[in-house]
This record gives sequence, structure tokens and C-alpha cells, in this order.
Amino acid sequence: MASAHLVGLNQAQLRAVEHPPHIPLQILAGPGSGKTKVLTSRIVHLVTRHAVSPSSICAVTFTNKAAMEMRTRLGKMLTKEQVRQIKMGTFHALCAQFLRKYATLVGIGGNFTVCDADESKKIIGKMLKESDLKEFLKSCSITLSEGTAMSRISQSKAKGLTPHDLLDTWHSTSHTAPRKGKSKEKGPSLLTYEHLNAELGTCNTKQIIDYVAANLFAQYERTLRDNNSLDFDDLLVYGVKLFGENPKVGTWCEHVLVDEFQDTNSVQYELMRGLAASSRCVTIVGDPDQSIYGWRSAEVENLAKMRRDFATTQQIMLEDNYRSTGSILAVSLAIVAQDKARIKKTLNATHPQGPKPTLHCFPSDQAEASAVAHEVKRLVAHMGGVLSFDDVGILLRYNSLSRVFESAFRKEGVPTRILGGQRFFERVEVKDLLAYLQLVDNPAYLPAFGRVVNVPARGLGQKSIQELLVVAGKKGMSPLEVAERIYEGRMPDIKPPVKRKIGDFILSLKVLRKLASEGAGPASLIRRLLELVQYETYLQKTQEDWESRWENVKELINFASEMEDDLGVRSFDIESPDLDKGEDDWVDNGEDEYDEEELDDLGFAEVKTRPEESAPAKTEPETPLRAFLQASMLSTDTGQTDEKDKPKVTITTCHAAKGLEWPVVFIPVVEEGVFPSARAEDKEEERRLLYVACTRAQGLLYLTHASSRMMNGEKVFKKLSEFVSVITGPSEVRRASLALFSESPPEMTYGQCRTLASVLHRTAVDSEQRTKDVAELCVLVVVTTYGG
Ligand code: ATP
Ligand code: MG
Repeated sequence: MASAHLVGLNQAQLRAVEHPPHIPLQILAGPGSGKTKVLTSRIVHLVTRHAVSPSSICAVTFTNKAAMEMRTRLGKMLTKEQVRQIKMGTFHALCAQFLRKYATLVGIGGNFTVCDADESKKIIGKMLKESDLKEFLKSCSITLSEGTAMSRISQSKAKGLTPHDLLDTWHSTSHTAPRKGKSKEKGPSLLTYEHLNAELGTCNTKQIIDYVAANLFAQYERTLRDNNSLDFDDLLVYGVKLFGENPKVGTWCEHVLVDEFQDTNSVQYELMRGLAASSRCVTIVGDPDQSIYGWRSAEVENLAKMRRDFATTQQIMLEDNYRSTGSILAVSLAIVAQDKARIKKTLNATHPQGPKPTLHCFPSDQAEASAVAHEVKRLVAHMGGVLSFDDVGILLRYNSLSRVFESAFRKEGVPTRILGGQRFFERVEVKDLLAYLQLVDNPAYLPAFGRVVNVPARGLGQKSIQELLVVAGKKGMSPLEVAERIYEGRMPDIKPPVKRKIGDFILSLKVLRKLASEGAGPASLIRRLLELVQYETYLQKTQEDWESRWENVKELINFASEMEDDLGVRSFDIESPDLDKGEDDWVDNGEDEYDEEELDDLGFAEVKTRPEESAPAKTEPETPLRAFLQASMLSTDTGQTDEKDKPKVTITTCHAAKGLEWPVVFIPVVEEGVFPSARAEDKEEERRLLYVACTRAQGLLYLTHASSRMMNGEKVFKKLSEFVSVITGPSEVRRASLALFSESPPEMTYGQCRTLASVLHRTAVDSEQRTKDVAELCVLVVVTTYGG
């Protein structure tokens, strides 16, 4: 009798699972063809048929979530102990695990701390503030942001380059004679900025930045080493070293299996190569059509590299799709087939045609989001018992697009989960800006003061802020009032002094308060605030993902503009007085910054209250600003207790949806400028991203777009994405009328209904329960379709 892990596999899948362990294998296949399933079954096969010790198996997944899912799947076929012993996780997690054990082999201590991205940013931020570098950059009229420096360093590490490699290149391109280092380190030594200044004659701006980046890189590395810590890139770099230089690696781990191989970068490839070099027991699964991380240096060429490095590699293609209905697959393939350079491959649907994916156009983004939320509710209501909110995925191109959908679902009372991100109103940049506006509305509001008094960084340290609180307590004033008086010289400065640092904060709030009192709406206030505190520059300087954060800021302006429209606030042309910074210009003496957790220590957190509770007790008029703040704060209240088991609609980005599947998928905002993203450099990668998104759907796929949308607070007319417009022939996407979102259920024939049912059925975890549900679904939909 066949073992459980082989049951139901098709011929090609079976060949892949039973492929001899010592012959390198590439399983290349389209979405939903069972690649991940085969990889899991192959692990079970190795353990149960080849008596491989689970501890010598290393399974690499793209995300931590995928590793958890794989563990759950394996748990059904192996013992708990066997699953525990398998080394499983992302490349980062696996490297951390191996390095912990074999640290001494690469010359580091095993008790290293993993330095996360935020921590790395802080280190670089500090280095950029150091006076000789600051002076040097100033003398060359060059600005170098934290984000740029950080991504330079990170990119170099991802390519396996050291600071000295960068310097070598620099010397060879800038015609400066390499200086031989006195240290033990190989390669040319670093110049001091003073030295460099003297040699700058022939350097252009790019060369100077290259040099500074190399210098910062070296300094950053020293800091990490001094602290015995490794950043995310180091985990991979040291991993390569560990696996590459130790012949014993084959005894630590014999069998290497990698999922989503098309999205590995060159360092990750080296890791895999090193791990599998001696045993050559390596299996990878991948799909070039789903490579969507080129923007993060993923190299689809790694597939060819592997065939070169492991000469006996064999390939198995899987050609049957088990995930989606025939018509979902047809639409998806029609999208990706427009990429003329793509290598065609076969992908047959194993499910019947099913209902055609539909395309819906709405007059506005609001209308689109509320229709989607309404449709989800209606589907679940009509197919209750079979479809739950867990079965629905909303896949967005950017995370900033989630705000309108979060709000629409909340209005419909539909619970949601945000996968791989935070809810819109919990995002740092959104909270920062709201805190400023809260202070405009209510200067005594302590949590807001604590949140933004040093955002952007003004060099105010914890001690100063603590002292402001103490003085405020003693005088019975708010800390903002104390700060204001100190700034205006009506009160003596405190220790450590704040007067010279707090000027722009006080003046910005004054300007905003004046505008608010003249009736300015929230959108105008946010725009002015962004100018006053130079928030975009601040994000650029401090956040690696500043573009995505800036999108969230713009989305907040959209929300504020919608509120202005609702409230009938007149449009407000702001001509406010320039900030008189005077002698209290932006001064930054490098005093410690603090983060959100530290705020708790300062006593801000415990006084956090709902704004309506903290608002002044006396009756005050409902200003547009106050209405906006209240709506924003209420938006943070999802009304959901975090019950783990409660079904929820998943809202996520197309990138984070990779490898996952849902019976019902909505892809909103399929518009020009979004698919492809206006920011993207590689149009074909954008097309593949839409393909990945469409192929997540099992039974029903909805594409939606709006003919106009709020962008940056203004109504903009939008066109359907060209990726979709070319395939809206009758055979692929059905342009559905708005009626579909009315009271009637989806137009399903009995046969189509059975298709959906079978899709749900086959992927069910508890198939017995699902069989019952499926029978119920058929009855339900047939009855409603035929009006019985
Ligand atoms: P992606 O490229 O999107 O990661 P994949 O190729 O990894 O997709 P899987 O996630 O492994 O595909 O499988 C897709 C779905 O098809 C899963 O629900 C899986 O259980 C199901 N499936 C795979 N093979 C079979 C089969 N032989 N019989 C029934 N269902 C199958
Ligand atoms: Mg997969």
C-alpha cells in the first residue's frame, strides 16, 4: 500500500518525490502545480524510505510563515520529534542556527546578537552625524542620507563584497594610487577625510560618495564586530564563509531542499552551493514566471548557475495545476503570455472551467472598496458553512492601498487580518502626523507630545524630556506650554537645555494652530505640517522603505481630503508666515534619540487615552480638525478582539501572497501606475506580479478598478491596467456589470458551482467536514441561482 505522502500524486510529482537523493534535481513548474507539496513529500520520503536522519535535512523556505506551514504539513506525516529535528526556515534563520553552533570556525563568538534593520539604521545614523564626516560632506556640498548609505552597504554585502573590495574598485576608477595598509587586513587602507580632502582634485561627486560609502561600510563593520553582533546581511555572508570553507559541512546537513528558488539572490545561491557541495543531494523548486524580487537583487539566472555547478542536475516539469479553476488559469496565463521573452511552458487545469473571473469598474476608490467589502459579505452569507471569511484574500499592489479597504470592511462589520504588515492607522508615519495634529487640537495631550517632540530628531534626549515633564508637573502646566515659555524666554531653560533645540517644534505648532483657528481643513494642515517639519526628507534620511511610508502619508492626505469633502470644508489656500527660526535654527548636538519603547519609560504610555476621553471637558465646537482626528482614532478600533480562531478576510500585498492560496481572491486597483507601478523599473516583473496574484485564486477571481481615485488629496482619473485591458476579450475576463455586486449571488450554473465546490474540497484540511460543506454549497447556490 502506498504511504500517505504518495497518495494522490500524479506521475510527474511521484517521479520528483522518488528521484534518487544523490542526483541534484530542479523541479520547475507553474503556480499551483504542487511544487511545495512535492518538496514536503520528498522530505517525508527521505525520512521514511531512505532512512535519512531528519537532522541532516535542511529545508529552505522564502518566509518564516512558509516554514511554519511546512512544519504543519510535515506534522501530519512524521512524528513530532522528527519534524523538530529537521532544519527548516529562511536562509537567514538557517544561517543564524548554524553560526550559533559553529561560530568559532569563522572567527566569531557564538554568543553574537542579531542586529535588526532598525538597529543597523541607528548605527549608520550616528556615524553620519560625526563631525569630520559632516564637515567633509558639507565642504563638497554633498548630502548623503542614512537610507542611501545603508542600502549601499547592504547591496555590497549581498554581493559578498568587503569595504576593501569597494576601495580597490575606487582606487582603480579614480586614478588615485592605492595606499598600502599597515594593518593585517588585506587591500588598500582607508584615507582619513582630511587626507581625502587633499586628494580630491580629480574626483567627481560619484567618486566621493563611493569613497564615503566604503569608509562608512568599514566603520559600520567595526562597530558590529566591537559589539559582537551580526546584521541580517552578515548572517548570510558568514554563512557563505562557514559553508564554503568547511569540508565537514556535509556531515552537518546532507540533504538540501529549497522552495521558491527563482527568488534567491547570489549570496543565497552561494549558501545553497556551499551546503550541498560535498553531498550533492540538492533539490530546488521554482518558477521563472513567478520571479518578483528582482528589485531586491534576486537572480533568476541561479537556475542556470546550478546546472553548471552541479553538472548532473536533472529537471522534472510539473504540468498540472491543482489550485485554480480552468478559467482562472486561462486569465492568468493570458496575462503572463504577453511577456514575449518568456519561455513558454505547459500548465493544464485539472479543475473544470468554473465561473469566469470578472472585471469591475467603479466610479471611485471609495465605491470600489465598499463594493468589494459588500460582495465578500454577501458571498459568505450565501455560502455560509462552506465559505468563511478565512477563504477570502484581498491582494494589493502597495500596502498604502489598504486604508480604504480596511475602512470599508470595518463598515461592513467584516473582520480582517493584515498579513505581513500593520493596519494603516498603526503605521509609524501615520501615527506621527496624527500626533502633531492632536497637539494642534489639544496642546495638553501628553502622548502626542511624547511621540513627536523629537520627530524629526531635534537632538532632544530622554533627560531633557523627563525634565520637561517634571517641571510641567510642578507648575501645573502641560510640557508643551513649558517648552513654549522656555523658548520665548518667559521661563528659564532646563537642564539639559532645550531652548536652542525646540524652536522649530514650537513654531510649527503655532503656525498650524493659527491655520486651524482660521478654519483650515485637515488635508491642508497635514500638507503644511509636512513642509514645516520636512517630513519627507526625514523619512528619506531615516527609513530604508521611505517610499512606501511616503505613500502612506499621501494616503492620509487622501483620507483627510475625503473628510473635508464630507464636511464641506472650503478649499484652503495657505499662505502662512514663514517660520521665523531665528537663532534657534535646527540645532542638533547629537544627543541621544529615543524610540517608542523608551517613551513608555518616560511615562507617556500610561496616560494614553482615547482622544475623545482626553479632549477638554468644556463643550467646544466640532472643528474639521477634531472631526478628522476622531474619525482617525475610531479607525484604529477594529472592534475585533484578537480571537485567533475567528475567521477573517486577509488583506495583503501581492508580494506577500506568494506561495499562498484562497478560494476567493480580489485584486483591486488594476490600474495604470499601479500595475505596472509607476515606480517600477522592470515592467515584466510587474506583469509577473499580477500573474502571481491571479494564480492565488482557487475558485473565484475578481479584478476591480476605479475610473477616478483620490491621489495626494486630489481626484485623479484612472485608466485600466494595460496588463488587463488587452485580455478582456470574451474568452478570458468577463467585464461584469455592477449588477453583480447587487443582491443576486454570483452567476453560477450547477456545474460551475460543483467546480468551486471541488476546488474547496480538494484543498480542504479536514476533508470529511468539507464534503458535507460542499454538498451544502451545491444546494445553496443552486437554490439561490434558480430563485428557489
Ligand atoms: P506556487 O507556485 O504558487 O507556490 P505550488 O506549485 O507550490 O504553487 P502547491 O502550493 O504545492 O503548489 O499546491 C497547490 C495546491 O494544489 C495545494 O492546495 C495542494 O494541496 C494542491 N495539490 C498539489 N498536488 C496535488 C495533487 N496531486 N492532488 C490534489 N491536490 C494537489
Ligand atoms: Mg509553492
